[in-house]
Amino acid sequence: MTPSARPILCVSVPSPAHDLAEHPEHAGRVPAILSAVEDDGLLPELAFLGPSPLASRIQLGRCHAPSYVEGLERAMAAAPGFLDPAPTYVTPDSYRAAREAAGACIALVEALLADPARPGLALVRPPGHHARPGGAMGFCLLGNIALAARAAQDRGIGRVMIVDFDVHHGNGTQEIFYADDSVLFVSSHESGIYPGTGFEDEIGQGPGRGTTINCPFPALAGDRAMRECLRRIIVPAAERFRPELLLVSAGFDAHFRDPLASLQVSGSGYHALTRGLAELADRHCQGRLAFVLEGGYDLEALGNGVVNVLRALTGRPAETGLGPAPWPEPEAKVTALLDRVVARHGLD
Ligand SMILES: [Zn+2]
Repeated sequence: MTPSARPILCVSVPSPAHDLAEHPEHAGRVPAILSAVEDDGLLPELAFLGPSPLASRIQLGRCHAPSYVEGLERAMAAAPGFLDPAPTYVTPDSYRAAREAAGACIALVEALLADPARPGLALVRPPGHHARPGGAMGFCLLGNIALAARAAQDRGIGRVMIVDFDVHHGNGTQEIFYADDSVLFVSSHESGIYPGTGFEDEIGQGPGRGTTINCPFPALAGDRAMRECLRRIIVPAAERFRPELLLVSAGFDAHFRDPLASLQVSGSGYHALTRGLAELADRHCQGRLAFVLEGGYDLEALGNGVVNVLRALTGRPAETGLGPAPWPEPEAKVTALLDRVVARHGLD
């Protein structure tokens, strides 16, 4: 990988008014990331885009049913409240906040298309990868990364690859593109946890058959599993698909310290994965690459994860202060899983 010679394009939408005390997806997350980035001396590597327009009804309609968007807006009159049992909360500001987050992701991708010689990072919330075409789910209101992918396609990009390394399956993104062969969706996640989807045999349908790839890892899988997933699944899938844009649903809840799940990725794991993804974007996409924040609920691990993404993108070594994963990985189970996914998708 050629480290980015120019600042990384960044959007930041902390959404302070979309907040709920004691909820893991709270308004302290983006400030915690920015503070970790600053403490690591990386702020000068970021070029912040100014305020972006809110995502429009037309843009939202590329991924969501108008009836859902109207219902979400109406839900503001009854806020605060809950839209699903995750629990996905809303405050009176949530509709605006979600459109601001989605609009920022769209603006980031549009800026990258105009000037692809640098990667992008969207530090936005509420997150998006569980949001379905017709409903909020899993702390997510609008499909930020899916909306950004569609906006890129509206600007002339044909094939978009989305890699989702959040510990939870990106069911919303998968559903939006399930029958669409112009978007390759690859998700690594922990098997058997929320949202209960992302099985190996979910591979897309109709013209999209084969353009959804799921790697549901057993508990305690970590850096080795991610490295092998990159080498055996993500890289060959990209070789075959030849994406013109690479988007990454970057959740940091697969970190071994995260309270919501049991994978064991470490800071150096995120660093290695980022290097691999950046190489892919250089090889296939003229460097067009953007990371979009999803989950990550241990604030230190979250900040360290983003720091390691930025260190990898700027040619710096990994920041390993939080240490290696505490437990051995279930290597045989991971290898067996990857063998099956490789065989199912003809990636050998
Ligand atoms: Zn997650």
